[in-house]
Amino acid sequence: MQLRFATGLTSTEYVTQEAWRNATLEHCPLHAQGACSFARHGTYERVSPPGTRIPRWYCPQGHCTFSLLADCFAARLTGTLVELEAAVDHVEQSRTLEDAVAELRLEIDLPGVLRWTRRRLQAIHAVLTTLKGLMPEPFVHCAPTLVSFRQHLAVEWVLIALRARAAVHLSHLPPPLGFRPPLRRGGEHSDTHQHRAGPDPPHVLA
Ligand SMILES: [Zn+2]
Repeated sequence: MQLRFATGLTSTEYVTQEAWRNATLEHCPLHAQGACSFARHGTYERVSPPGTRIPRWYCPQGHCTFSLLADCFAARLTGTLVELEAAVDHVEQSRTLEDAVAELRLEIDLPGVLRWTRRRLQAIHAVLTTLKGLMPEPFVHCAPTLVSFRQHLAVEWVLIALRARAAVHLSHLPPPLGFRPPLRRGGEHSDTHQHRAGPDPPHVLA
């Protein structure tokens, strides 16, 4: 289960300061009264930026691992929210997807670039659409686009601002902004209580 590590650090500062050492989770999210052997459970590594480690906790009674993801990082996707937002922004402001990708990720072939870009654009617009449903009051007049949310929030970086503004909804919001587990076949949420201890959490966007 992924949870929010509220911090204003950039990814570089997070790595330089080894900020995962300061992350705290005071009690087990499953057993608020503390009637379990909840304890710190090491860290796992993220690919980017190099040196990033994510702190983990484990509740043996609940068979559940918890990780605290700092606000600068995308959930279940390599890289930061700022990098992701910059890429999606670029597409939103281009005439067509093909125009946009002419300048993006040129180290992979064009169909690959189009797929990479389209998935990120769709993922962000899906997050914003879900958020409008969860928080109709502030966002009722926003279109589900970064440009519209940016205008409304009057911030430079929408996604990082939304980690804080929508903090209580993160478990119901899809990645890469929220921490909702991926859907299993049949429509149930899988991965609610466990996540793999790999180099990164399982990706939903290849
Ligand atoms: Zn517990």
